Amino acid sequence: MAKIIAVNAGSSSLKFQLFEMDNEEVITSGVIERIGFDDAIFTIKYQDQKNKEILPIKDHQAAADLLLDTLIKKHIVSSLDEIKGVGHRVVQGGSYFDSSKIMDDYVVSKIDELKVLAPLHNPHHLTGYYAFKKAIPNAGAVAVFDTAFHQTLEKRCYIYPIPYKYYEENMVRKYGAHGTSHFYVSHRAIELMGNPEHSKVIVAHLGNGASLTAVKDGISVNTSMGFTPLAGIMMGTRSGDVDPSVIDYLVENIGLTMPEVIHMLNKESGLLGISGVSSDFRDVQQAALQGHERAKLALDIFFRRVIAYIGRYFIALGGIDAICFTAGIGENSAYARKEICDLLTEALGVEIDQEANENGQGDRLISTPNSKVKIFVIYTNEELVIARDTKKLLNL
Ligand code: ADP
Repeated sequence: MAKIIAVNAGSSSLKFQLFEMDNEEVITSGVIERIGFDDAIFTIKYQDQKNKEILPIKDHQAAADLLLDTLIKKHIVSSLDEIKGVGHRVVQGGSYFDSSKIMDDYVVSKIDELKVLAPLHNPHHLTGYYAFKKAIPNAGAVAVFDTAFHQTLEKRCYIYPIPYKYYEENMVRKYGAHGTSHFYVSHRAIELMGNPEHSKVIVAHLGNGASLTAVKDGISVNTSMGFTPLAGIMMGTRSGDVDPSVIDYLVENIGLTMPEVIHMLNKESGLLGISGVSSDFRDVQQAALQGHERAKLALDIFFRRVIAYIGRYFIALGGIDAICFTAGIGENSAYARKEICDLLTEALGVEIDQEANENGQGDRLISTPNSKVKIFVIYTNEELVIARDTKKLLNL
């Protein structure tokens, strides 16, 4: 009985899911938030119960120790030796990694080197790695990279049209993100289509962070995020694509500093920036229903930026067999799916089955038999991919 824990360590949080790998069952899951504060929040779900505790947690080591102690105290595991592997989500694997890897010295050194590309993520993934290594030294550790699935992009898709030396000397290129989700969802769609030899799939991962990927025969051929997750479609608080001259204009003429502009583009833009209401899709939708003009505009721009990428990828793929909706908005909002699909009807012959869209459950087809493109709702499961890769690489 191999148990594997999938870990997502952020700057002040640590999300986890513990799997029993024999049947891929989630035994427990949860999150520790506000690490470093006296009022950190530890939420753990176990056997249909949800426990929430507020307590001081000084650092990631304390968070990992608390989590593992709790697993013992609640008899979720009888000994920590039952946990044979720890799978770590790693946001940035650069050009080094096209698949998950056992975290040996080389892998750790590259994750460290790549912190210049992901300063808000990679250092914290390593902090999480060291914390678990110390707490359960006998468990193997595997890094699962958000960028790995997109390493199949051809050069003509990942090189920016700026002087080539910045790619050669400074690692500037498109890397993409959400790769684990795009991999899982596209492969699930291919499975639901009966595993055809050839397939052209677009995955719309629409959460607070959002991206689209074009997947041909199971391989990522293009994706909307870029050098960082700031690029692509509009998101909860991120702008997505804007003319870079806006940055220069705001710095030179309006007096913002560069860090202020970057903060604005990452944290104050998107749904929040346009609506002025919220970054949360549900709040913006609610305001729009009540007639809030900027909330309506925010949703309109969000939908149009999604279909713009679908149009691009339709051309790039030479057609589309399926479009998959996933993540918080994609999985839960029948309204968002309908608005996006309605905008595709005239050009692509998309037709939605309202009943399946609004009242269906789980992974499902929501297009009619007449629709020229199949439309799927698929529940993403990045943690399961992390656990599966960890099991495979550690030979468990
Ligand atoms: P992330 O993982 O990027 O933080 P999620 O995938 O959890 O984000 O998605 C969060 C988004 O999903 C929020 O904008 C939220 O409003 C939206 N969302 C969640 N549930 C619903 C729902 N029932 N209807 C509409 N939007 C929803």
